[in-house]
Amino acid sequence: MATIKVVSLDMEGTLVTLTYSHKVWHEGIPDLYARKVGIGFREAKRLVQQQYDDVGEARPEWYDINYWFTRFGLSDPQRLLEDYGRELAIYPEVKATLQRLSKDYCLVVASNSARDFLQVMTKAVGNSFKTVFSAISDGGQLKTEGFFLRICRETGVTPAEVVHVGDHLEYDFHAPRRAGLHAFHLDRSQKTSGDSVVKDLEEFEERLNELSAISTQRSGD
Ligand SMILES: [Mg+2]
Repeated sequence: MATIKVVSLDMEGTLVTLTYSHKVWHEGIPDLYARKVGIGFREAKRLVQQQYDDVGEARPEWYDINYWFTRFGLSDPQRLLEDYGRELAIYPEVKATLQRLSKDYCLVVASNSARDFLQVMTKAVGNSFKTVFSAISDGGQLKTEGFFLRICRETGVTPAEVVHVGDHLEYDFHAPRRAGLHAFHLDRSQKTSGDSVVKDLEEFEERLNELSAISTQRSGD
């Protein structure tokens, strides 16, 4: 069994809460749009939502804030993203856990969020990441088996040397496993349980250390 070298982490719902993105899309953008066209916030929110729904989350432009700013005739998405930085909330155990993990592993972010959102988020979480991979910005699609294989190639490791953790069952558990990575499903709600389910990053760290101990022992056999 290969030694674990890289820990890959999802961002939203794993390291930071969903509040930041949610507020940018459903408060910040409607607010700018309301002021731009001279209508009330509620009406703007309804119109904006209608257009989000028309595009739908299966299409890559749905995630692209520049696309929406152009579509709504707005300017300076970067400023909005930075203004809403105040809404960024990091889960309580994250910073200390990452600090410990960074001593033994190379840490990367593997996210479905767009790169301009990820820049604000990674800055808030801290600079412990070697590389930040955005499935949507780099490849125009959500996290797939191919995306995880690309992470391995670009990080210079084999899939068996990587452990991924995140809160989405398909994107953070099934997809990386199909690519041959180790994966843990983070369920902060604690509604599911099992060998590969963890409730927070501290529990993930424990399981990772167990896995590492086994793999080091075996590779020494
Ligand atoms: Mg997530």
